[in-house]
Amino acid sequence: MTGIPNITLDNGVVMPQLGFGVFQVPDEETTAAVASALEAGYRSIDTAAVYGNEGGVGKALNASGLPREELFVTTKLWNDDQGKDRALAAFDASLDRLGLDYVDLYLIHWPAPDRDLYAETYKVLEGILRSGRTRAIGVSNFRVPDLRRLQANTGLTPAVNQIELHPALQQNELRAFHAEHGIATEAWSPLAQGAVLRDEPIVRIAGAHGVSPAQVVLRWHLQSGNIVIPKSVTPERIRQNLDVFAFELSDAEMSAIAGLDRGLRTGPDPDSLN
Ligand code: NDP
Repeated sequence: MTGIPNITLDNGVVMPQLGFGVFQVPDEETTAAVASALEAGYRSIDTAAVYGNEGGVGKALNASGLPREELFVTTKLWNDDQGKDRALAAFDASLDRLGLDYVDLYLIHWPAPDRDLYAETYKVLEGILRSGRTRAIGVSNFRVPDLRRLQANTGLTPAVNQIELHPALQQNELRAFHAEHGIATEAWSPLAQGAVLRDEPIVRIAGAHGVSPAQVVLRWHLQSGNIVIPKSVTPERIRQNLDVFAFELSDAEMSAIAGLDRGLRTGPDPDSLN
């Protein structure tokens, strides 16, 4: 076993703290990448309807022979499918492409503020949760005002908010809100798609521990309490990103990385993506 720690979500569902992301992996390459990840020891896979590779993920999961209850599968509802008329059919289509009877976590992919549909959409997700076809529900890319509005309009608090989060975008205000409300923080682009791997303190700390810069960044996330889902299609990196449990960053090293926060987004801004 790899010794991946678990995070317990607010409804008691247990989620691996480290998983595997497949954004921008073409469907035909996804099966091999996910098979490689499962072989290395990952059990949590993060996909989305809009990635166009739920089919490839499903093929790898179903071919792995691993018991379904050992796997943790996340997918996401795309913006065009928000609203009570479309969300349920979109979920059914995702489940069908994945070849699964249920997922473990279903997320609203973006708040898409101009559409103004996320509160009614979240009520559809709540119905799917009650039907047993997802074990937990949550959101992605929600800002503090979105989370407050969701709570006010539905009386519900998401189990997870999956947000862009890495040393150059530390999201301290959102993370504090999550902590106060029992929302698990999941970091997307945890490596900033490579943009922080040459930063001085990270390279220095990697040298001190005899590990790679990516391993330092993943370790910083784990010690910060974040769920992480690094992506790679390179088998050696897939293995390396899981090999982060044999060393620990000191308080001084954690502080040096805290100093890298500079508001750098590698992906879209939730204010303007609709
Ligand atoms: P990551 O921060 O995980 O970075 C991936 C990049 O880093 C790839 O170019 C990969 O290269 C490279 N890389 C991976 N491991 C290493 C390593 N050990 N050393 C050096 N380079 C490495 O970016 P992603 O944007 O893919 O984010 C991760 C996941 O988060 C996504 O796959 C997706 O599941 C999720 N996500 C969610 C979003 C949302 O809106 N909810 C938005 C974006 C992502 P290579 O593959 O060539 O090895």
